[in-house]
Amino acid sequence: MDPNSNGVYFADVYKKLAAPFETTFHDTRGGLELEYITGEQAVTRLNEVLGVAGWSFRVLEHGYHEEADEVWVLGELTANFGGTVVNRQQFGSQKVKRSRASSTPLDIGFDLKGASTDALKKCASLLGVGLYLSRKEAPAEPAAEARAEPLVCEECGEELKETRFKDGTSWSPAQLAGYGRRKHGRALCMAHYREANEAKRRAAQALEEAPF
Ligand SMILES: [Zn+2]
Repeated sequence: MDPNSNGVYFADVYKKLAAPFETTFHDTRGGLELEYITGEQAVTRLNEVLGVAGWSFRVLEHGYHEEADEVWVLGELTANFGGTVVNRQQFGSQKVKRSRASSTPLDIGFDLKGASTDALKKCASLLGVGLYLSRKEAPAEPAAEARAEPLVCEECGEELKETRFKDGTSWSPAQLAGYGRRKHGRALCMAHYREANEAKRRAAQALEEAPF
């Protein structure tokens, strides 16, 4: 490979690794909305882009933190980019699941597996996988909040409403507007947000199927 085509190769692989996911999950922790992908999605992305033989993951260290009642794992992801091998290391953790009756751990192997999946996802994010999900939102302007003007959809003009999900979590109008701006460059109502996600997914699919 000449240096130029090497650069093109890296840019192309990075684009594939960092491509947005059509399905993401959300959770609220400490009042913060988290958008995340599963370990399975991260592994599938690595398999599809780098090839099954193109990456590996190993646990370098693991332990238990008593005060947090968490197991932790230091993991290392090794990836082969067309002959160039890179390593990324990150920590992962998981709360120990305990029996309600006796408070003894139910399955430490399962807890460690969860912690290493967490470490793997974080290592993969250093290679771009799902990295966009951890982008920090700019803090809302205090002036805008003080005015308390209703947020409206930039597609249909409808006022944004709080959206509740089946899992019991919900997005406030400000959160919905934030996700719309981040993913699609404008505040959208839930219907138009979903429509824009779908359009993006179809566009990505069309690109995948393009014959080159
Ligand atoms: Zn709308």
